[in-house]
Amino acid sequence: MTKEQILKTYFGYDMFREGQEELIDSILKGRDTLGIMPTGSGKSLCYQIPALMFSGITIVVSPLISLMKDQVNALNQAGIHAAYLNSSLTNTQYAKALEYARQGRYKIIYVAPERLDTPDFLDFAVHTDISMLSVDEVHCVSHWGQDFRPSYLKIIDFIEALPNRPVISAFTATATREVREDVICILGLKQPKVVLTGFDRENLYYAVKKPKDKYGELLSYIRSKKEEVGIIYCATRKEVEEVCEKLKAEGLSVTRYHAGLDDTERRTNQDNFTYDEARIMVATNAFGMGIDKSNVRYVIHYNMPKNIESYYQEAGRAGRDGLPAECILLYAAKDVVTNEYFINNNREVELDSETVELIRERDYERLKKMTFYCFTTDCLRSYILRYFGETGTVYCGNCSNCLTQFEEMDVTELSIQIIKCIQEVNQRFGKVMIAEILHGVDNVKIRQRDFNHLSSFGKASGESIVRIRKVIDWLIMIGILTSTNEEYAVLRLNENTTKVMTGKEKVILKLPRHEEKAESAKIKKDKKNLSGIDYELFELLRSHRLETAREERVPPYIIFSDKTLIDMCMKYPNNKREMLRVNGVGEMKYERYGEGFLCIIDEYLLKYPEKRTTKTVNHSNTAEYRSNEIDDSISDEKRSKLKMPFALDKTKKPEFQTGLSIAEYVELLNGIRLERTKKLLTKPLTKWLLYHGYLEELETPHGGTTRLAGDKGMAAGIIREKRISEKGNEYYINRYEVSAQKMLYERLEEILMWYDDHKKDL
Ligand code: ADP
Ligand code: ZN
Repeated sequence: MTKEQILKTYFGYDMFREGQEELIDSILKGRDTLGIMPTGSGKSLCYQIPALMFSGITIVVSPLISLMKDQVNALNQAGIHAAYLNSSLTNTQYAKALEYARQGRYKIIYVAPERLDTPDFLDFAVHTDISMLSVDEVHCVSHWGQDFRPSYLKIIDFIEALPNRPVISAFTATATREVREDVICILGLKQPKVVLTGFDRENLYYAVKKPKDKYGELLSYIRSKKEEVGIIYCATRKEVEEVCEKLKAEGLSVTRYHAGLDDTERRTNQDNFTYDEARIMVATNAFGMGIDKSNVRYVIHYNMPKNIESYYQEAGRAGRDGLPAECILLYAAKDVVTNEYFINNNREVELDSETVELIRERDYERLKKMTFYCFTTDCLRSYILRYFGETGTVYCGNCSNCLTQFEEMDVTELSIQIIKCIQEVNQRFGKVMIAEILHGVDNVKIRQRDFNHLSSFGKASGESIVRIRKVIDWLIMIGILTSTNEEYAVLRLNENTTKVMTGKEKVILKLPRHEEKAESAKIKKDKKNLSGIDYELFELLRSHRLETAREERVPPYIIFSDKTLIDMCMKYPNNKREMLRVNGVGEMKYERYGEGFLCIIDEYLLKYPEKRTTKTVNHSNTAEYRSNEIDDSISDEKRSKLKMPFALDKTKKPEFQTGLSIAEYVELLNGIRLERTKKLLTKPLTKWLLYHGYLEELETPHGGTTRLAGDKGMAAGIIREKRISEKGNEYYINRYEVSAQKMLYERLEEILMWYDDHKKDL
């Protein structure tokens, strides 16, 4: 039979696909052959067809038991005698299979690499006419491959042990230059024919997004796709479960898959997806091996995968039918950390420490290239193609970068200032501090360290903090600066830094031209959901809070609570006086953090000057209120709703007195609160004291409970005082000494913030 006849008779296809014929012909000529083709392009036929045409048998080395099983089943169905030899067989089954093989019953034998050097297999091999040795997933032989397997190195010894060298064919979907060279050298391919085909999948649209709210982005995307079928890849099992649950709760047709589920559930879920019972599959990378569902319209990566190989393979499960499909990667900086964790904790195979180190290095290298994919402003398609050794066009017109216009800006000068500033603080601080110094923020943090006397202080006062931070991010991205991987990231200089300092390299920042417009349109949409809150500003403040918290090594709520940030978003304070009116901002907090937040708000208002106007309107409302022009007929309840939250008037000093009860103490504080603010209640204080162990809840003899000072409370100046009731029963009350009152006064903001954050659970 000719190869065309075999294609039709055994496999039922009329035509070869790109590359197949070339590969088959080369093998049939007896030439070593290396086929590099994307997953799903039909590599198996390329060795199966010659195998049927050779006189002897073909041995196929394959790493995955499940894949072998599928292949052998498919061949048997097609009427081709094939078998597999691997650890899934019992000893008896194995012996039997080998016996049949000796009798020449099989044309194709799949074998796991671990079997190659076992005496009985070797004995069989040297006594058999082997026409071809075919190596599937041949990148496993290379440290540069994403999946190095030491057992693949046994292939070389195996070939050498054979009395006659068979034709060697090898296949992979990993086509980086390093892997290609490794394969040829390590397997000792002789003047091989190398066929590299079509990594370009024209029907796929590639996009990278960096949403602040990943889940929100995901949900609105899925909703926009109506009844279409899609896969969502998550990095961890936990995330798979969470995302799947949430989508299910939205009433979407969704199922899940990861290696932690039992076999039955995995099979059921996969079937449900395959047969369109469930429209959306949420899965880890364990899902997809051997699935061949053609109508997947989108593949969303909820997390950045560990390398381009994985990404290409997983994203490539979209649009197998050749119709337009979308591959969207939702990037967050956290994904890099997760992947680094995986790399450092990868103990899959037993390897010597040197090899482990080598592989780790290469994994890092690949992760870096994956991360660059998320940041490149060039065509995403050509980035992938170039990664796989093909030359891509500069512009594909079907990826998010080609469809976005970028603006280039020379930021060399600012970069130099940043570098100098990092030098000046001896490479000991993070992004927030560096940006604040350069911008010239005058706060306690900076004064405490005397940074306001640095020559860098205020050097870039004309640049906004947000922009300085963007440039720092960019410098990290392009490798001019290093950010340490510790929990509290510190900026460091590296060997590339000098290139900029010496003027050898210019720093060009590329920003999407429409970024701001697109962002604000999206924000408007989101804003609807967060009634009345300026969501965009809120996010800016929140991210500033997070970074400050990291640098200060405190939990974010210690800096300001969400409520405080929300209040900032309503009041748009732009000086100290206004900032002190914000709920939760006291003198002390202001001194430490206020300026930084003011800068963020200020920059924000430069971008949206119309919001200043909104703010003025708000102010005039307040003024109106202050001038007592409020209709007296408004009920107290309504009036109290109009009032601002409790805030102390910092110009007044409290007059502490010995032995106050909590109610008396609260009254004292209410006496020095700002006008028109709500009264403080005892509850936040007592709850806080209880929660932090100053007070203890005790049972009374009559079955009730009472809260009395415990050891910690007494040490802080809360005194238990015995009383006798009218009925003659003894009971205790708490009296607060001046020391306790001072403590509460000093920590009042913290206490109120804590209460805000916890009152739901109390
Ligand atoms: P790979 O090993 O490259 O991932 P497979 O060999 O599993 O891909 O092939 C993927 C699918 O394409 C299989 O369903 C296979 O039957 C099919 N296929 C292979 N060659 C052809 C062809 N010439 N025409 C049509 N379908 C083909
Ligand atoms: Zn493109």
